Amino acid sequence: MAVIVQKFGGTSVADPDKIKAVAERVMKVAKAGNDMVVVLSAMSGETNKFVALAHAMQEHPDPREFDMLLSSGEQVTISLFAMAVKAAGMDAISLLGDQVKIITDDSHTRARILAIDTDEIEKHHASGKIVVVAGFQGVTSEKNITTLGRGGSDTTAVALAAALKADACEIFTDVDGVYTTDPNMCKKARKIDKISYDEMLELASLGAKVLDIRSVSFAKRYKVPIHVRSTFTDTEGTWVVEEDELMESLPVSGVTYNKNEARITISKVPDTPGTASKIFTPISDADIVVDVIIQNTREGGLTDMTFTVPLTDYESAMEIVKKVCADIGAERFIGDPDIAKISIVGVGMRNHSAIASTMFQVLANEGINISLISTSEIKVSCVIAEKYTELAVRSLHDAFELDKTTPLEERS
Ligand code: ASP
Ligand code: MG
Repeated sequence: MAVIVQKFGGTSVADPDKIKAVAERVMKVAKAGNDMVVVLSAMSGETNKFVALAHAMQEHPDPREFDMLLSSGEQVTISLFAMAVKAAGMDAISLLGDQVKIITDDSHTRARILAIDTDEIEKHHASGKIVVVAGFQGVTSEKNITTLGRGGSDTTAVALAAALKADACEIFTDVDGVYTTDPNMCKKARKIDKISYDEMLELASLGAKVLDIRSVSFAKRYKVPIHVRSTFTDTEGTWVVEEDELMESLPVSGVTYNKNEARITISKVPDTPGTASKIFTPISDADIVVDVIIQNTREGGLTDMTFTVPLTDYESAMEIVKKVCADIGAERFIGDPDIAKISIVGVGMRNHSAIASTMFQVLANEGINISLISTSEIKVSCVIAEKYTELAVRSLHDAFELDKTTPLEERS
């Protein structure tokens, strides 16, 4: 008998009929002789409504009370789901995070899971029940209700799968898997059958829409294979698993883009010890996360500093830079919010040379200028003008033949 965790997102349980349909789907798997744990999100839109309600009461809602409110959407879906199962003649029980004993730290609105007690779930499995658990919530040792951050139900599912040593962890959503790139940007985008945890983490901007990225870090740490798939079809989705030979044989697995960054350049900065810290300390003190940083050396003891920040923090970063420039005696600074970061990702990059230079060549052939480059072991990113995003994504997707299944893949 296998233990299977299945998580359904807000769009999958958006109304009573959808909840009934999901219950049918789960019961089929239960009837095949499996012990089921179902993790549910709130109905889509509900959590957002609670956020608005809280802000109508208090400008900065009290964190404890905010979590108390936000966690309530899941209580609705799990109880309705258990009723649907019972109406169809099987047995189920709904459990909140504190009833399971999903223990978290006390960082309200972004709590981390510290421990999960599996006794309660196992007891109900022993008596043949489908166990339905509220996603996104936990409880502190002081008995305060916490939430795991928006989209946190995926993490609940992965954490339960790890604690129960489940045979499978399936995340059901409204898309059928992870694609080689954004299908809205490139018609040739192809569903990926299998991807490694590290690639999934690097493809965050693609993956975030499909799978909450914190759940992937969790899955990697505890080696939980995740199957991301559609609620509305029976087709296989994408498996997020440990790296294997096939993945290493492919130089590139996906192309991703991020239009939500801005670039700032400070020119003719005195090249003395402590300058970088004078620039970046006030920026980090303002909670602004800097992504790519490049420093160029000039003649005459001067240097240029270029970096990117999230678009939402662009105005405040420019304000800070203005002050810092006067402070350190830099000649001038310029900003550009109309940029995009295009990345190619693949664990195979470790064994294939010339991937980066191919990328540069492809962009050059299209007449696209690269203003910043950054690399990691399994990723190459280029910052370009935003208006070329689509062209860059399509040309890279073509150049690395991401629309084609590989011979190895066909065999597996
Ligand atoms: N209901 C929560 C949210 O909307 C958690 C989740 O759906 O995963 O963020
Ligand atoms: Mg989600």
